[in-house]
Amino acid sequence: MTSELQGKTAVVTGGSRGIGRAIAVKLASLGADIAILYVGDPNEAAESCRMIEELGVKVKSYICDVSKLENTQDSIKEVLEDFGTVDILINNAGITRDGLMLSMKESDYDAVLDINLKGAFNMTKSCYKTFMRKRSGKIVNITSVSGIMGNAGQTNYSSSKAGLIGLTKSVARELAARNVNCNAVAPGFIATDMTQEISKDNKLLSSTPMNRMGTAEDIANAVAFLVGPYSDYITGEVLKVDGGLAM
Ligand code: NAP
Repeated sequence: MTSELQGKTAVVTGGSRGIGRAIAVKLASLGADIAILYVGDPNEAAESCRMIEELGVKVKSYICDVSKLENTQDSIKEVLEDFGTVDILINNAGITRDGLMLSMKESDYDAVLDINLKGAFNMTKSCYKTFMRKRSGKIVNITSVSGIMGNAGQTNYSSSKAGLIGLTKSVARELAARNVNCNAVAPGFIATDMTQEISKDNKLLSSTPMNRMGTAEDIANAVAFLVGPYSDYITGEVLKVDGGLAM
């Protein structure tokens, strides 16, 4: 185990499964203590905690619906009591409710925007004063190539992810003078629960130059770079990890 992030506390939303779990495990392998936020299955969260504990760092999971500001404020208060500080925030929690606009329900539009975009606003706002006072911090928002290219059937999702890029750049500008970096990672097609339904002949997938889906670890590696010391002069950036899909 290297100790690049030793002594740091990282909060990972949606750390119970998929990309969030891979990020949490990767940052733990670099020495960070980990707080996982999730809403659904406690068994999945417990499995993430077990994997992280094995790496010899501190870990705790918290039930928190990121779409509710009060929930995120309460959870960050608990994290601060348990860990003493927050150094790294990974806004990864996200959902899809796909469908062509003609048939998309207003509630499906709202749910996706509330979790994917407002969730990142709520979490960042809840950690804002901590980062300002520390005069250091790293924020990484998990957006998507759908937010860059658009995607038929994902007007809600691509709007949320494009919005997240705007949020990333605005937060980067607001906090740059306080030595807080805010960047985004834009995954292409990554094999997780979210993409289980994607068929092998999906158009976007077949137009991925590297001709394969990415792994959650591919995304975790990019996040590790953006929260570590080698990216200290990078802020407001959107790093695509997509096998060349959106170039
Ligand atoms: P996933 O396997 O479906 O996992 C989603 C995670 O988000 C789960 O841990 C889930 O927690 C959590 N979550 C959902 N709603 C939440 C809420 N309201 N509050 C707190 N946590 C919530 O998805 P994934 O594929 O790992 O995706 C992770 C992120 O990457 C998302 O932002 C997604 O949009 C983005 N992304 C994924 C892909 C891809 O191909 N997979 C591509 C581009 C971008 P529970 O387990 O408790 O439900």
